[in-house]
Amino acid sequence: MLTTVHLPPQHNHLERYRESVREGVIEQLRQEAQPLVGASVLHVNATAYGGGVAEILNSMVPLMRDLGILADWKVISGTDEFFGVTKAMHNALQGKPHDWTAHERDLWVETNRQNAADWDDYDYVFIHDPQPAPLLAILKSDGGKPSGRWIWRCHIDLTNAQPEAWDLLLPFVSEYDGSIWTMRQYVREGMPESNLMIAPPAIDPLTVKNGPMGGDDVSAVLRRYGVDENRPIITQVSRFDPWKDPLGVIDAYRLVKKEVPGVQLVLIGSMANDDPEGWEWWEKVARHAGEDWDIKILSNLNGVGNLEVNAFQRASEVVIQKSTREGFGLVVAEGLWKGRPVVGGNVGGIPLQIRDGEDGFLVDSADECGRRVAELLRDESRRERMGNAGREHVRDHFLITRYLNDYIRMMRQLAGEPAAA
Ligand code: UDP
Repeated sequence: MLTTVHLPPQHNHLERYRESVREGVIEQLRQEAQPLVGASVLHVNATAYGGGVAEILNSMVPLMRDLGILADWKVISGTDEFFGVTKAMHNALQGKPHDWTAHERDLWVETNRQNAADWDDYDYVFIHDPQPAPLLAILKSDGGKPSGRWIWRCHIDLTNAQPEAWDLLLPFVSEYDGSIWTMRQYVREGMPESNLMIAPPAIDPLTVKNGPMGGDDVSAVLRRYGVDENRPIITQVSRFDPWKDPLGVIDAYRLVKKEVPGVQLVLIGSMANDDPEGWEWWEKVARHAGEDWDIKILSNLNGVGNLEVNAFQRASEVVIQKSTREGFGLVVAEGLWKGRPVVGGNVGGIPLQIRDGEDGFLVDSADECGRRVAELLRDESRRERMGNAGREHVRDHFLITRYLNDYIRMMRQLAGEPAAA
């Protein structure tokens, strides 16, 4: 059976967003959502905490409720072995080959079968990523099509997907009524084109992670973690995962350190419960950092939560996101929204967010990353210009209100009542 994620009742009101978004956005959303008032909507993903999908659903679900949509959020449960298999699948879909066994496939499908028990019907069901993708096929095979319209939301960059992994997934996801993708080039062969939407994710400007924060509160967080606010700070916030390239970030920092000896690197990584690789990579990172105490390795296990992430992003002269694969990279929009230039890997959704030379820099190697960061650390007015440009870019394209509108458009489209815009 799926586990419901309980969110505080009515803690997010669209009206509060008025100051963050452009004029007319709130009114337009309310109008678009009108035909969906009273509709029931379910989101299903793999974890309530850690990673971008959980981050978005935490905001999206209450906002849908505020629009009068009866939205719920549930997560699938499974054993460590199950999450090991789904992590291997996630990695394989991003290009890391894996030798698939029948046992692994069965475990994936059977765990979904257990989660499908006592199924409640909804008008619209959004299934996020591969972990719960088999739910629809299982419910169909158990007795006809479950009610409602089903949408598969793929958050992953499938450009270099291992063909065997895509072959495993395709029969399940091709049954959906519609699908949503971050970028056109992620869509793989065989995926039905009908009701296929391209909609990159977005950030919530009012969460504890992204909302305004006073200088004293920022300083208090820095002091708590022994980071010196009088010296330059560079930060990467990411799961400890090979594709986020934390080792490359340390290499880049070492180059910066030669030019700017006072620089400090803060690496923040959460330990998500669907991510068994986290520990292994945490240790790799710690070993690579060695005895350099200007590298702070922090995580939710040290009490680093949303408020602390906010503080460190704000306290940074430059935010880094040196991914070598990235579905979207919410952390990039988070950094830009705080008026910080972001130096990010030129992969996945990062180039959507960073316009090279305008809001930060796109880089292809640790060397280039180090060079760009050092360049920015030497030039305060450029940092400020880029930070301001980035914030406006996020306001126009990557706030949750735009994303909410995309989901509403998709539901209306499936109901045969496409939205005006
Ligand atoms: N995050 C966090 N603490 C961490 C690591 C990540 O709060 O230690 C958050 C981060 O701020 C962002 C999300 O998790 O909101 C990660 O989303 P992103 O799209 O960047 O990457 P994903 O983990 O989904 O690949």
